Amino acid sequence: MNDCMYCEARDERRLALMTPICDLSVSSLHLYREQSCPGRCVLVFNAHKHKLTDLTDDEYTAFFADVRKAAKALTALYQPDKINYLVLGDLCPHLHIHLVPKYEGGKSWGTIFEMMPEPPKFLSAEDEAKEIEKIRAALT
Ligand SMILES: [Zn+2]
Repeated sequence: MNDCMYCEARDERRLALMTPICDLSVSSLHLYREQSCPGRCVLVFNAHKHKLTDLTDDEYTAFFADVRKAAKALTALYQPDKINYLVLGDLCPHLHIHLVPKYEGGKSWGTIFEMMPEPPKFLSAEDEAKEIEKIRAALT
């Protein structure tokens, strides 16, 4: 049995970490709850595949088109100085990419980002909903 938090539509483990924003062509975009780097998102490939090398050529091309589309929206909206793209998969073997906008002088600038920095910065439900609406609008 597959016990993958990205395969279950309403998995509480995933929803504790991130909130769905929208579906893209072969993936779904989520706003990470920890927002020390404003605009931090996770892009999740739709099918349960573990590694980039498990994708067909067409899936790979479509997935990275989704990565670029999300990155362009985050760049337009948040104006980061750069974005970190992290493919880790140590804890969950379902292909996903962390998109972490970085800001000169901001959290983790010039160093490796922290998955859950101390102290974490969580948005209120109201502010999170506003950010999600802005990201959705920037994607269209
Ligand atoms: Zn999965």
